[in-house]
Amino acid sequence: MKRTFSRSRRSLLQNSCGLAALAAAGLPASLLAADLPHVTEDDPTAKALKYVHDATKSPDRKDTEAFCHNCRYFKGKKGSDWGPCDLFAGKQVNANGWCNVWAKKG
Ligand code: SF4
Repeated sequence: MKRTFSRSRRSLLQNSCGLAALAAAGLPASLLAADLPHVTEDDPTAKALKYVHDATKSPDRKDTEAFCHNCRYFKGKKGSDWGPCDLFAGKQVNANGWCNVWAKKG
């Protein structure tokens, strides 16, 4: 009987750890965003997409209203200076930045 209790207890602990990990993995990106590094303009993906921190400085940007903060791929909080972008996994882009994948937020 005691052995059964120990197994159950061990199982409960194992499941609790698993649930904690799942909860951590399921946190909204916005809660973890502050910990992400800022992408640099010389990042290979940034270069390929012609990303710049200041959209107004890009010679490739044709739409003067296009900024990361109003792009459908931007996941930063409204009003934040930096935020995650679907195209730059694990990094943040500048809310006033731009790249050539920009698409108006719906
Ligand atoms: Fe900015 Fe959108 Fe390009 Fe991401 S996809 S870097 S949010 S313009």
